Amino acid sequence: HDAKQHRAGFHRFREEPRQDVAARLSLLGDLRRALDDPGQLTLNYQPKIAVETGALVGVEALARWTHPTRGPISPADFIPVLEVTNLMHRFTEHVLMLALRQTRAWLDAGHRVPVAVNVSTRSLLDPDFPARVAALLAETGVPGDLLSIEVTEYALMSDPETAIEALNRLRAAGVKSSIDDYGTGYSSMTYLKVLPIAELKIDRSFVLDLAENNSSRALVASTVELGHRLGLTVVAEGVEDEAAAAALREIGCDTAQGYHFAKPLPAEALTARLTDRELADAGPRG
Ligand code: C2E
Ligand code: MG
Ligand code: MG
Ligand code: MG
Repeated sequence: HDAKQHRAGFHRFREEPRQDVAARLSLLGDLRRALDDPGQLTLNYQPKIAVETGALVGVEALARWTHPTRGPISPADFIPVLEVTNLMHRFTEHVLMLALRQTRAWLDAGHRVPVAVNVSTRSLLDPDFPARVAALLAETGVPGDLLSIEVTEYALMSDPETAIEALNRLRAAGVKSSIDDYGTGYSSMTYLKVLPIAELKIDRSFVLDLAENNSSRALVASTVELGHRLGLTVVAEGVEDEAAAAALREIGCDTAQGYHFAKPLPAEALTARLTDRELADAGPRG
């Protein structure tokens, strides 16, 4: 019982591919084709909201795959399959390109929308990764400070030297980094001390029952304090109701993300929200 709970707490085990070998191979073939078919792999964008003001401070890009015969397949199911092959590099490049093109389109329409992209361990540790990011920024003309990457604790701990070098090179291009699903992995004080990161994203398992569970509240409050003392922004993911949002305001967490504010939205729906917000901000006369 204990061992099972312990294992389940580790991101790495939680994300282990669930399919058998044949199913994984066929999924990989389908993913390879999907990368050449612009209709299949798209991005949704989930707003990141300033806890204090309710303002939109950015978006997280989340991959969506619509399989031609099987319909939507969750990233939680296909990312782990990709992660054990070099196809992951093409996928990451594809996602970055889509996200930066969208950021460019928003800029052209007068909206500065910081975008966060999830980057897997394999891609972060690819020695070419920082140069590829810089090339994509140059190609799309998006300033580096509009891009951030979300990486897991596992990616950072599995090869800290390579990870730190990659994060430093990205930071030199203005790109910020966050630790995603913070609290579920190999947290270590040593690494928090040396990692060039800008943000902690507290895993939703600590946020979902924040208003009812004293342990969750203690963990979130102390993580917010820890983050602030280290000069980091702290984000809570998985905010599903007003009770959790209120607790985050009380605690002083910087940023929140979750169904309570918005689900991940197609780009057009997000754009409509940007316009609404501007109209709302224009006040009663608008
Ligand atoms: P994540 O980066 O931690 O993303 C947050 C996940 O929580 C997303 O699931 C999002 O839709 C979901 N979510 C957001 N708000 C709420 C809420 O209030 N309640 C609940 N229960 N869930 C919420 P999604 O889109 O299915 O993505 C799952 C994971 O797949 C992501 O977790 C990320 O690790 C991975 N992923 C998604 N897109 C990419 C990608 O482009 N590249 C890589 N490497 N990984 C990706
Ligand atoms: Mg993320
Ligand atoms: Mg997350
Ligand atoms: Mg998560």
